[in-house]
Amino acid sequence: MNLQTPIPKGGSNFKLYARRLERLGVKIFEDLLYHIPSRYEDYSLISKIGQVQAGETVTVRGTVLEIKNEYTRGFKNLQKAKLSDDTGEINIVWFNQPYLVRIIHANDNISISGKVNWFSNKLVLQSPEYELANESFSLHTGRLVPIYPETKGVSSKWLRRQIYNVLKDSRQNLTEYLPDSIINNYDLLGVNEAIEQIHFPKTLENAEKAKKRLAFDEFFLMHLSSIQRRSTWRKTLVSNPYSISNYKKEIEDFWKKLPFTLTNAQKRGVGEIFKDLAGKKPMNRLLEGDVGSGKTVVSAIAMFLNFLNGYQSVFMAPTEILAIQHYNTISKLLSPFGIKVQLFTSSSNFKKNKDLRLKIKESDHKSSIVNHKSPTNFGVAVGTHALLYEKIEFEKLGLVVIDEQQRFGVEQRAIIRRKGKNPHLLTMTATPIPRTIALTLYGDLDLSLLDEMPKGRKYIKTWLVGREKRISAYRWIEKQIKETNSQVFIICPFIEESETMQTVKAASREYEYLKKDVFKKFKLGLLHGKLKTRDKDKVLQDFRDKKIDILVATPVVEVGIDIPNATIIVIEASERFGLAQLHQLRGRVGRGNKQSYCLLFTESKNQETLERLKAMERYHVGAELAELDLKMRGPGEIYGTMQHGRRMLKVASFSDFELIKKTRLCAQKIFPSLDEYPLLKEKLKTLNLKQVSPD
Ligand code: ADP
Ligand code: MG
Repeated sequence: MNLQTPIPKGGSNFKLYARRLERLGVKIFEDLLYHIPSRYEDYSLISKIGQVQAGETVTVRGTVLEIKNEYTRGFKNLQKAKLSDDTGEINIVWFNQPYLVRIIHANDNISISGKVNWFSNKLVLQSPEYELANESFSLHTGRLVPIYPETKGVSSKWLRRQIYNVLKDSRQNLTEYLPDSIINNYDLLGVNEAIEQIHFPKTLENAEKAKKRLAFDEFFLMHLSSIQRRSTWRKTLVSNPYSISNYKKEIEDFWKKLPFTLTNAQKRGVGEIFKDLAGKKPMNRLLEGDVGSGKTVVSAIAMFLNFLNGYQSVFMAPTEILAIQHYNTISKLLSPFGIKVQLFTSSSNFKKNKDLRLKIKESDHKSSIVNHKSPTNFGVAVGTHALLYEKIEFEKLGLVVIDEQQRFGVEQRAIIRRKGKNPHLLTMTATPIPRTIALTLYGDLDLSLLDEMPKGRKYIKTWLVGREKRISAYRWIEKQIKETNSQVFIICPFIEESETMQTVKAASREYEYLKKDVFKKFKLGLLHGKLKTRDKDKVLQDFRDKKIDILVATPVVEVGIDIPNATIIVIEASERFGLAQLHQLRGRVGRGNKQSYCLLFTESKNQETLERLKAMERYHVGAELAELDLKMRGPGEIYGTMQHGRRMLKVASFSDFELIKKTRLCAQKIFPSLDEYPLLKEKLKTLNLKQVSPD
């Protein structure tokens, strides 16, 4: 069987399943082999019925004496069976599986695995696994049984059968792409053995060995591919290293016009960026800094130097609201120097306005120097994904800035860069990434850290507010608005990761309720992602102009919104958020010098949940909260939004720093002689292809 064959969408027993399997990321047969069990059920203890004891997890084999459906009050139904062998009888019960009586019949020989309980003075096997008994082979019982990540309509049991069949049909068919030297040096299983043992291990120890090999591969290949990307990048040249000394006066002028002095971290960041821009190779730098550390202004300075040297810049943000805000900030900083800033979002009219589109192209082609005075030309384009639109072209694109870069896919970053000739790239994020992990995910990038907050910032006082304190919290907010002129965000719960109509409805309902019943004397506004651009813009502007006291919003404000006079944020149903995300939301306040407050509303009574949320009262640094998330909820929480992370780690864990380091060294060692290992090179290629495919 060819493992690269896509799972057929019709005609076979996979018919119904192809689409469902796609939800699990399974598209070709090989993907099934890489659908890794999340755990194993140990059913390897095979016992005579007469010897089983309560509390044991066992497999028993015998003859079915009877099986029947039983209906009880309250819509529950039970399936009860009796099994016997030459040593005794045992009762079996399943819940709500009426079809079982059509699968299992009296006198069948079956094998049953599960936990034995005492129930009304009898031993009972509750909801056990079952299959027809076969002396020489069993799949679902009598062994270590793999349990798989499931999706609606695709059970672990079904997956187990299919994976078993694919393994059988394709035995030893996976290409070993690791060189022997690595396999020997690191004491790894071969890839075929590892795949077989990860699914159907003889012992848990074997499963561990299989895991070790597959985890090694995950990090090793990630490193190797980022080292490769870096090396390719380093081979490209910019057409024209920028001059800094020619523009000393202008740059000094820019410093003077800034409304504040930069923090030392910001200065260091600017220094690193300037050095890159003055170099012969295109910059590829990640600017990482906690919410409120002031990344925007650093990027604006980079765009300024880019402009002075005669080039255009692009600044791409993940949401329209954010793009508009950045457009305003950046215009304010750059237009005093004669730089025209242009906004591009899907709602702005550039698509309909063919003229504008054409003129951008024409005027750029006519002169090699950008004419910033022309009304259809610009030095800086700020926008959303709309910037990726193919008709938007730049003749002199020198610098691409990507804000909240974790929100963009690898492919989107590539598209925007292709609009220039090896332009410099500056990506920005507030997602705190420990250094080891940054090296894995972004090993091809240089890193600048803003590890310092602007002077005068105070910690945001944070309280957990249970249902009983809700009313007094509302009264306290009223008092704050009256006495200190504060402005308030109220963030409504979200249901899905992305904003849906349901979320919008929930926010609208909350808005009506708060307006009518809670904050009658104040002006409220409503902000969500489904509003028209013009309306979004107006709401935000009104909030900025203090025409609105309380802004009820969906988590669209999560990234980047900057309104320094807002000093209180209420987060409804806060238990639904991860700590790192709560920290991002909380970062919407505390952006000026006034004391700010964050109220975490929750109805949860779960002790663990409350403990987790309480951490927000004590911790104020994003990296520390991310660390806690990592411990309490696992790596998925922080890295869930990271494109690479989600797609590439199935076995390894980002908390395994030891393995990350080891595999990085190994990748560095092998990279110079990569050409000697064509199979490894090929594997890397398919991996990179997968990585750039859109979500
Ligand atoms: P983030 O890093 O979260 O993107 P922003 O760039 O939005 O942060 O900056 C947050 C706020 O801090 C903005 O209002 C900005 O004007 C202000 N700011 C940035 N740098 C400084 C500084 N050095 N001193 C005082 N305020 C600053
Ligand atoms: Mg920002």
